[in-house]
Amino acid sequence: MEFDLNKRHCFYFNELCKIPHGSGNEKGVSDYLVEFAKEKGLRYVRDELYNVIIYKDASKGHEDSEPLIIQAHVDMVPEKNKDSAHDFLKDPLDLYVEDGFLKAKGTTLGADDGTGVAYMLAILEDDSLIHPALECTFTTQEEIGLIGSMVLKSEYFKGHRMISLDGGGEISTSISSAGGCVFKAYKKLHKEPSKGNGYVLMIRGLSGGHSGGEIHKEKGNANVLAARMIQELKDDSLRLVSIDGGLKDNAIPRECDLTFTSELERAELVARLDKSQKAIKEELEFSDGGFFYELKDEKHDEALTEKDSEDILNFIYLMPNGFMHRSMAIEGLTITSLNLGVIKTDADVMMLDISIRSALESGIDNLIGILTKLANILDFSYETSARYPGWNYSEVSPMRDKFRKVLKDLYAIDLVETASHGGCECGVFKALIPGIDIISLGPVAYDVHTPDERLDLASFDRSFEILKGVVKECA
Ligand SMILES: [Zn+2]
Repeated sequence: MEFDLNKRHCFYFNELCKIPHGSGNEKGVSDYLVEFAKEKGLRYVRDELYNVIIYKDASKGHEDSEPLIIQAHVDMVPEKNKDSAHDFLKDPLDLYVEDGFLKAKGTTLGADDGTGVAYMLAILEDDSLIHPALECTFTTQEEIGLIGSMVLKSEYFKGHRMISLDGGGEISTSISSAGGCVFKAYKKLHKEPSKGNGYVLMIRGLSGGHSGGEIHKEKGNANVLAARMIQELKDDSLRLVSIDGGLKDNAIPRECDLTFTSELERAELVARLDKSQKAIKEELEFSDGGFFYELKDEKHDEALTEKDSEDILNFIYLMPNGFMHRSMAIEGLTITSLNLGVIKTDADVMMLDISIRSALESGIDNLIGILTKLANILDFSYETSARYPGWNYSEVSPMRDKFRKVLKDLYAIDLVETASHGGCECGVFKALIPGIDIISLGPVAYDVHTPDERLDLASFDRSFEILKGVVKECA
C-alpha cells in the first residue's frame, strides 16, 4: 500500500501536511481553505477564530433534500520525539510510508483530524458526486478545548444532520459524548505559629489515568486519599500547612503531598496512618493495588489556623468525587463524573481544580450546585470555566441508519456504536442546532496525539468510499 497522490483525498492530506497547523496556529490552513473556495467558486464564511465553512449547492435534481453538514477540525496536537528538531511553527511534516501505514518522521501526523479536512476538500471539488447541499465546516483549536467550534453561530447552518469526521474507526460511529466544565475553589489562607511537629504525608504508588476514559475504574485519587487519611487520624491538634497534588484537572492524580503539624506522638501517628493504609489498600486491591504512603519529618514554624485547616479538609472529605452515574441505555457508559485533579498551595491561597463531566447539562449543573453550596458553607470562593456541552444518546437516528446501510452494501459489515465519557465537538453542534442528528466517521489511525501516530492507508481509502456513500444516501 502506497500513499498515492493521484487519489484526491491523499493529495489534499499531503497538501495539509505542508502547512504547519498545531492548535492555535491555524491561520495558514484557514487561508488555504479560503483560497480553495475562491478558486472553485464556492461560497464561504470565515470567522475571527479562523473557522471556515464552505458551502456547495446540491447536485442537480437534489435541491429539495435537507442540507448536510460535514465537519472536521483543522488543528493537530503538535507532539514530537525528544531528539526531533522539527519546528511546528514553520516546518512541513516529513511523511513516509511503512507497512501500509502513513507516518511523520519524529512527530505526530495529524491524521486526527487532517484526514477529515482532506475528505471534505476532495468531496467539495468533485462535481461528479451525488449529494444534497453541503455545509463543510472546518473548525480550529479543537484539541485545546473545543475553542473554535464554541464560537460558531447557528445562522451559518441550514442542515439538521451532520457527519463528523473526527474520531473515526472506519466501521464505527459515536453515539454519545460528555460535556463538562472546570470548577475551581479558592481558600484564602490564614496562618499562625505552629505548636506540634511538622510532617509531610506523601501518597504514592497510584496508577492515575484520564478522567474521561478511566473514571469508572475505581482508581485511587491521591488528593482525596490524603484528606481522608488525615480525617481518619481524628487528631484535634492537627493543623494543615499545605497540600500539593496532581498535575492536570483531567488526569486522576497519582501523587499528593499533604504537609501538616501535629502534637500527637509520632509512633501513634504512624500507627493510625498504617491502619488507614491497610483499609484503603484492601479497597483498592483489584483496581489500584500499588497504593502506599510515606511520612516525612519537615519542620514548620507556621501552620494554617484551626478554622482554615478544618474548612479545607472538610471540603475535600465531603465533596463528591469520581464516578457518579452510569447510562442504563448503553452498557458500560459513564454519564456523570468529577475529578479533583489538582490541589495547589501558594503563599496565601489554596486552589482546588475540579473537572466535571456529564452527557447531560443537568448533570453538570447539579455538580456545580453541590460544589457551590459546599464552597459557600466552608468559606471558599469559586469560579467555573471552560464549559462545553455534551451529546446525550438518541435512540432514533436516520443518519445512523444510512451509515449502517452503506456499510452493509459496500463491505457487508455491521455498524459498531461507541459511546465515550470524553468531550468532542459533536456536543457543541448538539447545543448549537437543536434536534441535529449526528454520526461520526473516519479511517483507523493508531497512537494519535503521539509521535507514533500512524494512519492505516487502506482504511483511509475505504472510509472515503463509505463517506461518499453516506453523502449520496443523504441526497
Ligand atoms: Zn480529533
